[in-house]
Amino acid sequence: MGQAKESNIVLKGIGISHGKVGGKLRFFKRRSATQLSKRSAFPSDPTLEKERLTEAIQATKEQIEHLHQQTLLKIGKKEAEIFEIHAMLLEDEDFTDTLYAELSTQQSAEAAVKNASEQYAQMLSRLDDPYLAARAADIRDIAVRLQKNLSGERDEPLIQDSVPYILVADDLAPSETVSLQKDMILGFVTFGGTPNSHTSILARAMGIPALVGVGEIDNRFDSSYAILDAAQGSLTIAPDETKLSEFQKALEKENEIAREHDRYLRTLINKKAVTRSGRKILIYANVGDESEADSAILNGADGIGLLRSEFLYLSLDRYPTEDELLEAYEAIQSKMQGKRIIIRTLDIGADKKVSYFDLPEEINPALGFRAVRICLKREDLFKTQLRAILRASASGSVSVMIPMIISVEEVRRCRYLLEECKKELLREGKSFDPKIEFGIMIETPAAAIMSEELAAEVDFFSVGTNDLTQYTLAADRQNPFVANLGEKNSEPVMRLIEHAANAIHAHGGWIGICGEMAADLRLTQRFANMGIDELSVSPPYLLGVREKVTECK
Ligand code: PEP
Ligand code: MG
Repeated sequence: MGQAKESNIVLKGIGISHGKVGGKLRFFKRRSATQLSKRSAFPSDPTLEKERLTEAIQATKEQIEHLHQQTLLKIGKKEAEIFEIHAMLLEDEDFTDTLYAELSTQQSAEAAVKNASEQYAQMLSRLDDPYLAARAADIRDIAVRLQKNLSGERDEPLIQDSVPYILVADDLAPSETVSLQKDMILGFVTFGGTPNSHTSILARAMGIPALVGVGEIDNRFDSSYAILDAAQGSLTIAPDETKLSEFQKALEKENEIAREHDRYLRTLINKKAVTRSGRKILIYANVGDESEADSAILNGADGIGLLRSEFLYLSLDRYPTEDELLEAYEAIQSKMQGKRIIIRTLDIGADKKVSYFDLPEEINPALGFRAVRICLKREDLFKTQLRAILRASASGSVSVMIPMIISVEEVRRCRYLLEECKKELLREGKSFDPKIEFGIMIETPAAAIMSEELAAEVDFFSVGTNDLTQYTLAADRQNPFVANLGEKNSEPVMRLIEHAANAIHAHGGWIGICGEMAADLRLTQRFANMGIDELSVSPPYLLGVREKVTECK
């Protein structure tokens, strides 16, 4: 075959994000967990092997937590959940039991990781459900990390190059995808992979044009110029002049459209989100710390619809004091330029564990001791937070919101404690807003069903669709085997939301949505029809939701 003459070689795959790019192909051959294990399969000291494995598991957990934080900061909460799933897979007893069982057959820790992860990954990939089958790639990612920790190897940049390139790999692990140096990667192409893989989800969120499932590409094309068109699902290697000029024209047009859309979105900042029929919807931000408040303002948030107040508790190794809490709330207030902030009281428990809380080990933590349940058992702790929230309300528009409510009794007890805090502050001469708005989250089917009675007790509802989905569908949001059921089954949750909306409106209150469903643009029209008053989303989605509202009937 005349190598120099080869041109316009078109390979087809599945495009998993939009966009097209042209650039040099660079091949990355990832070493698999199998290749990484260099040690003899049969070591002499089983106790030492067990210790090594336990240490590697611990180090892997810490790295996964780091990746989780990185993804949370750089990409988003939903995407960061991928690493929560990794942590969970690593703790899955079926997997760890297999690991230690492999060790007990006199093997090295490396061999145990290799065998156990392959068994588990193959079991997953044989399953009919494409979502679950795609979890095999996650297990392999964890296995590579375990092997690296066993050999003490450090994470290296995937490829060293000085010019941006299109990465070609047999497959990419989620942790490799988030570690991609975005300014060097024009796009990526993988031989295998599926649109449901976590790598694909991350690529979409990072806005990297990508193609999966193209089949093996001969590495003689390393360094060849190619055009990747994710929307068409094609990779054209060595395009000829005609193809190249077609591509450049199309790209210019696409870039212009994108720039125009971006300019348009920017014009929406500080404009009210009003549907075509004149219904106004507030577009608020979900914020987990101070830096997210900056991003909320940059993207034109009307306020903060959910301040996940756990952040201060999670960042300390002791209980924060009332003054420390107040200081943290005031720091966020000063960034928000007087816009309303809804502070959700502590939602510790379930997946958010804090060692100094000394919470019990639970078999079923999602159905266990969390959020308001802890606050109502530990009233001292709760009152410290309520007092700090009240004091913050003295210098700006602040509302208080209670998570995980299931009954009128809980709401009344919370209100009673809030009133007690007000009396104490009054006695101490400390100022606060006596009319502070008091709301609850609708996160349990119980709260949605009881919404008529609950509406009589509060000023507003905010629907936490993440929890409402998990409890309505009986599908643990942390469990990779069922976590995606919500995507195909939103209707039961939508009906509960509608029921709650009718109840709170009948009582003159208002209702917002602050779970991930608020950012799902396929649902915006339904939310507008229900009369939802506020949508609270993570900052990167603010302008898209604002635009969508203006397009609603
Ligand atoms: C929710 O459950 O939808 C919610 C917004 O709260 P969190 O995700 O913090 O549990
Ligand atoms: Mg919740």
